[in-house]
Amino acid sequence: SKSRQPLLAGNWKMNLNHLEAIALVQKIAFALPEKYFDKVEVAVIPPFTDLRSVQTLIDGDKLLLRHGAQDVSQHDSGAYTGDVSAPMLAKLGCDYVVVGHSERREHHGETDELINRKVRAVLKHDMSPILCVGEGSDVREAGDHVSYCTSQLIEGLKGLKQDQVRRAVIAYEPVWAIGTGKVATAEDAQEVCGALRAALADKYGTEIAEEIRVLYGGSVKSSNISDLVGREDVDGALVGGASLNGDEFAKMSALA
Ligand code: PEP
Repeated sequence: SKSRQPLLAGNWKMNLNHLEAIALVQKIAFALPEKYFDKVEVAVIPPFTDLRSVQTLIDGDKLLLRHGAQDVSQHDSGAYTGDVSAPMLAKLGCDYVVVGHSERREHHGETDELINRKVRAVLKHDMSPILCVGEGSDVREAGDHVSYCTSQLIEGLKGLKQDQVRRAVIAYEPVWAIGTGKVATAEDAQEVCGALRAALADKYGTEIAEEIRVLYGGSVKSSNISDLVGREDVDGALVGGASLNGDEFAKMSALA
């Protein structure tokens, strides 16, 4: 009954050099019949250093896979040594940019304000941000997960116009479920994804809220993806560890 096209996005994190990246994309492409792409959108999110190789392979072989980046600078250019800008990523054919992943929030001290600037940079250059939100175990134990994630969502999208917001993808990634093998129950995922959509409806109207894809992320694999994406407000998955295995990732695409 859902009209939204599910999205399966593989976040490779800091894994695979460009040669290994080519091998994995080839493996995924080989394992995935084209007909799957009518139903589900599939994207790989490799490290920056792999993007040119992945782009060349996807374009050259006219693969239906999409690709994106794991982070971006809030600035378009300038004296920001080591950073990579949204115009550079757009030029590499990126459709998506992950923004506000919990590992960036934790290890790089990214705040909601910085994340909001990055979201704007991505949208300015006609790509879609995958805005990540999610609570730690302390917040969940206190029962504050819904308000915590809703606040991250609203702050992350601050100041955007409606026609910008509709291009965003939201990923609910409870920190306690990332890379831990501890997957949220489908009920837990639905509770927060549903609340995020309700908050979007409140702020931007029902029509836009119904268009926006809300993903779940956190220890998703082929054995648990069906149950998660079967829920009303879960429109796909952001997958870390399991996306590094081509057969497993292709298998998930069939189930998403
Ligand atoms: C992630 O980092 O976005 C993620 C969901 O990781 P994993 O699937 O490994 O838990």
